[in-house]
Amino acid sequence: MTVEKHLEYIKEQTMKQNAYGYVSGLIGWDSAATQSPKKGYDKKYQYAGILAGESYKIVTDPELRTAVFEAAAQMDTISDIRDRAMVREWKKTIERMEKIPKEEYIAFVELLGKSEMDWEAAKENNDFEGFKDTYGKIFETLRKFADYYGYKEHPYDALIEDFEPGMTVAKLDVFFSELRAEVVPLLQKIMEAKKNKPEDFEFITRFVAKDKQDQISRMILNHIGYDLERGILAESEHPFTNGLTQHDVRITTHYMENNFMSAIFSTAHEGGHGIYEQQQDETLEDRGLRNGASSAVHESQSRMYENVFGRSIEFWKPLYGKLQETYSPALDGVAIENFHRAINTVEPSLIRIEADELTYPLHIMVRYELEKDLLTGKIKVDELSIKWNEKMEEYLGVIPPNVASGVLQDVHWAAGLVGYFPSYALGNAYAAQLLVYMKKDFPVFEDLERGDFTRIHKWLGEKVHYHGLVYGPEELIQKATGEAFNPKYYVEYLKDKFAQIYQL
Ligand code: ZN
Repeated sequence: MTVEKHLEYIKEQTMKQNAYGYVSGLIGWDSAATQSPKKGYDKKYQYAGILAGESYKIVTDPELRTAVFEAAAQMDTISDIRDRAMVREWKKTIERMEKIPKEEYIAFVELLGKSEMDWEAAKENNDFEGFKDTYGKIFETLRKFADYYGYKEHPYDALIEDFEPGMTVAKLDVFFSELRAEVVPLLQKIMEAKKNKPEDFEFITRFVAKDKQDQISRMILNHIGYDLERGILAESEHPFTNGLTQHDVRITTHYMENNFMSAIFSTAHEGGHGIYEQQQDETLEDRGLRNGASSAVHESQSRMYENVFGRSIEFWKPLYGKLQETYSPALDGVAIENFHRAINTVEPSLIRIEADELTYPLHIMVRYELEKDLLTGKIKVDELSIKWNEKMEEYLGVIPPNVASGVLQDVHWAAGLVGYFPSYALGNAYAAQLLVYMKKDFPVFEDLERGDFTRIHKWLGEKVHYHGLVYGPEELIQKATGEAFNPKYYVEYLKDKFAQIYQL
């Protein structure tokens, strides 16, 4: 059969896969962001399971396998770069799947189905002892999978491939050791400075009604250029982005009436994810390349809008008056400079998702070091909780009083996501590198001060957004900035920003 015929068949199957993904995405949205009746969940999840089975049938379809492998063998004859990327991605998915014996894969899916619920109960009851065997089984299975997948240097490399292709322990070790060397002492200096000059940002806990917060969230989304005609803002317990199609990218936020900052920054964060998906090239959807280059690249865009732009004083200059007026009396008499200090306050804390911009990567470092050592057997599951606390004390100077706010706080390991955490820190680091190069092309913060996102959108569009998954993360960063991923930009960004804020 000709390459054209193969490509045609692969696209057909990709569109089918998209259709299943679309319905599953809707089901997910329905559970998290609408008031659908809980009593209807049983059937809903039964149908979701059937759809997942149908989708699995596509991945294991022998005809698709033939089409993909024969097309891959004639890759040089495929002229369209998007078609080549489609074949590359399918080939990788099929190859990885085939390396895991089917029975072991099914057993793992069953283990995970139960472990998430068990984790929830264990967290609620502060019961690490009751859950540690499950962690043990998950890490043991993933270690086996890493051997099946194969790796050159470290079993962790085989797992991270699912989330951040091309990333390795060798590169991550350099990244985290630079962070450790610079951020840990910087944090200690800041804590000293704070002792001498205590901060008082009581105003951030003042009451602001939900409907006012909703108004501001929409103002922010309009301001940054998230297209509300091709998206929706809803409320959910945990904010998330659900890109169903390029023209239907939904996001959520969460309103807390005594913590209005939370919704502001989660809206900006999800808005960043949303803009990435809305700005991708229209022709990528049919080829299954629409959801972005990797988790970390996706995260680089959300953090760009949330932290780099959203926590700068320039961003707030055109908006602050409106914010004060809408939230009155909460921000009456609070100068913009004081507001800017409050949204950048550094305070080591126990919970990753509530951490400030400076201490956040240290939370990731704790998890990265532990999962790496668990995988190689350097530490045992029995010691996990103790090791967690030791590292929290060493890097952040805080010790969790219980396992719910310690080793059991995140769902990731219970969901089988080992190797995912670095994506969050890498996202920040990619954003910092992109920013350096964006600033070489035009004065980014002057544009923010004028409230003009035109050039920012165009730049991020051309360098990142339009390409979807045509390039993997390594190649994308290289093309966008002219150099390989370089952790020094992130470390410098953090040092400059917080030395200035704390006048060190
Ligand atoms: Zn995110």
